[in-house]
Amino acid sequence: MAELSVLNQPAKPVPKDRLPMPVQLAAGLEKLSLALKSRTWRREGQAGLGPLQRQVLTLLRSKADHSAQVSAIAQELVVRLPTASEAVATLERKRLVKRFRSHRDGRIVNVELTARGARACAPAVGIPNLLAEATSALTSTEQVAFLKGLMKVIRTLQQQGEISVARMCVSCRFFRPHQYAEAAQPHHCDYVNAPIGDHALRLDCAEYEPASISQAKESWDRFNESRTAIG
Ligand code: SF4
Repeated sequence: MAELSVLNQPAKPVPKDRLPMPVQLAAGLEKLSLALKSRTWRREGQAGLGPLQRQVLTLLRSKADHSAQVSAIAQELVVRLPTASEAVATLERKRLVKRFRSHRDGRIVNVELTARGARACAPAVGIPNLLAEATSALTSTEQVAFLKGLMKVIRTLQQQGEISVARMCVSCRFFRPHQYAEAAQPHHCDYVNAPIGDHALRLDCAEYEPASISQAKESWDRFNESRTAIG
């Protein structure tokens, strides 16, 4: 009887003070970030890695040759050079990276991921798989929309100086947005010299090379205008 009386109650009106969509989305992103931090801390606690150390390893793993200069690490992770150097020195003591001087210029110090370092940040047991599993709950259309949305958010944060380097198609010199009428594969990647679809847009591509400021702006406008027009 109690259940029946609940069913008979009139529907409650939607609260008028509902938060604006950008605020709701920001709250959702914050929840994701908290979940990831908690997972990272648990995992890093086991591996004995601090957050910055883990970021350095993950950055090196994303490079084609698993190496980078200390100055580039500092720039990409938006930290000061001494901070990056300290994290690298700690990782070297743990035998997760090794440092060596460039053959071409002895003043340049390169950092390379060791096999042990690659295992310590392997995605098989880490966050990327956890997220991939969660995002597989989206339909393929939702996944493409999410990817494009992330691209726009990341680009904005990059323009605000919060993210230093994002190796995304939209700022790559090889990217030619909306070159074809074919809806499934409207863009062109000069690197592979082939059409690519929205589903193949990259957020972190090893072959990425930065476009000039004017080319990146032109590419973005073309990509974004067509996106708005298509709706
Ligand atoms: S090289 Fe990579 S980032 Fe550049 S357009 Fe091709 S797929 Fe995109």
